[in-house]
Amino acid sequence: MPKLTEHHNLSQELKQKVSIVHAGLINKGNTCYANSILQALTVLSRLWSQLPSESSLSSLVKSIVLNMSLLNRSRPPIDPSNFLRALQNRMHALNNNAFYHNHQQDVHEILQVVFDEIIGSSPLVDNLLSVTVTTTTSCNSCCFSTSREQKDSILILPTCKSIADSFNKFLQPQELLGDSKWFCPHCSSHQEATIEIQFSNCGDFLVVQLLRYTSVNGSSFKDNKLVNCLPKKHHVLKVASHPTDDVSFNNKYNLVATTNHSGTLKAGHYWAFIKDQQNTWFKCNDRCISQVDTFHLNNSSSYILFFSRS
Ligand SMILES: [Zn+2]
Repeated sequence: MPKLTEHHNLSQELKQKVSIVHAGLINKGNTCYANSILQALTVLSRLWSQLPSESSLSSLVKSIVLNMSLLNRSRPPIDPSNFLRALQNRMHALNNNAFYHNHQQDVHEILQVVFDEIIGSSPLVDNLLSVTVTTTTSCNSCCFSTSREQKDSILILPTCKSIADSFNKFLQPQELLGDSKWFCPHCSSHQEATIEIQFSNCGDFLVVQLLRYTSVNGSSFKDNKLVNCLPKKHHVLKVASHPTDDVSFNNKYNLVATTNHSGTLKAGHYWAFIKDQQNTWFKCNDRCISQVDTFHLNNSSSYILFFSRS
């Protein structure tokens, strides 16, 4: 069968060489972090149609994202300088005076600033992007429990070998034992307790950050585990509301974009994978856009994952 293999390899190679010079972004010097965010945000089309063009940063994002033309016509790469300047002004207004847009940044931090600005612009957009997590702590002795709700636009999940496993692990109940015992207000003493987490509300878009970076004694470490980001069965991710929720599984999502990172937090490179309306995946690496096969989605560099309700 060597001939078949050779033919297969050749056709794969040709397929990957199909490069479309459009919707790219110029790298202004270490600005791949911003480009990867802007490229990934092109897939949230419903969000942009509901966003008023008021605030300077979010309206600049909207205009660049719409200009990137959603991969359907040829155009020269776009210069994101206006966005970079607005981002720097925003960061300085947030008292991050050391921020300089030509230095590598953590995509998660910058995306959060962009989302905060976008969410502040419209309650409709807030509903599209937000995920609400309820955490309940129960005393194992008297069963007294207390709950708190937290609403976020980026959900941080542990890095597991598949995205489905990351969700399952996140929802696993956690026991507070030994030195970690919980002070139960009803018992008025430290008791063994159980923490349970559930999703009380998920928006039409679900944005997930994989916890690839950990910091120990001031040094950061990266978990380069290979993660299967594309759900196996029909590529649909079913997000259970709680660990025993196997009946409803109302929340079904499709992966629509990822931002990826190679290297360390101080030196490295960001790029994005995005899916177009015809379910074709593209690698967006600054100004270079190339078609890729879906197996490229399962890798050890995925960092932020964008899902859209199916
Ligand atoms: Zn108690």
